[in-house]
Amino acid sequence: KFIAFEGGEGTGKSTQARLLSNSLQSAGADVVLTREPGGTPGAEAIRSLLLDPPGDGWGARAEALLFAAARSDHVEKLIRPALDRGAWVITDRYLDSSRAYQGGAGGIGDDAVLGLHAIGSGGLRPDVTFLISVPPELIAERLAKRDGGTSDAIGGREAAYHQKVAETFLKMAEAEPDRFVVIDGEGTALAVHERILAALKPFLGG
Ligand code: C5P
Repeated sequence: KFIAFEGGEGTGKSTQARLLSNSLQSAGADVVLTREPGGTPGAEAIRSLLLDPPGDGWGARAEALLFAAARSDHVEKLIRPALDRGAWVITDRYLDSSRAYQGGAGGIGDDAVLGLHAIGSGGLRPDVTFLISVPPELIAERLAKRDGGTSDAIGGREAAYHQKVAETFLKMAEAEPDRFVVIDGEGTALAVHERILAALKPFLGG
């Protein structure tokens, strides 16, 4: 099974990806925990370019291409081989981040992002995508605690950009209810983890 965690910064998706990976591993499963942008040496190199852009930063189109290139390497060298041997793959961000950030907030559009994904990664989709949803006030509080108020967000983006990211994520989840599970990200990490385990049950049958 291929599981993706999605959401904006400060939603707790990285923590939840790790907790789920630990739970499945404890139950004896073969689990590969990975992240985007990154997951392979090539994709991690592209991550550095994205997070610390040379010059005056990337335009939305170049950014979309770089994310697609990183994902292509990630899928080809790590995700596909793991799925082929029957492992679980849990990724912290995947395609839907590109659809929300570059497609929605960046203005590239969903069709363009999906087109790049078809070329780069054969259109591979997760079996389940957990969208962790947290109110903006709580996110601001968490991010202030995490890095003393400074954000590592690409390009020093503004609140309106993040608002659009959150809206696009929710719209995508509504459009594809069989793949997306929206998880309430409020409360302790353990409480959220329990919600995720409960939501995963129906997917474990087949
Ligand atoms: O997963 P994490 O929150 O660490 O993401 C790293 C950075 O990459 C964040 O600033 C996020 O906003 C950005 N990002 C992006 N477009 C994507 C995926 C992540 O701008 N498709």
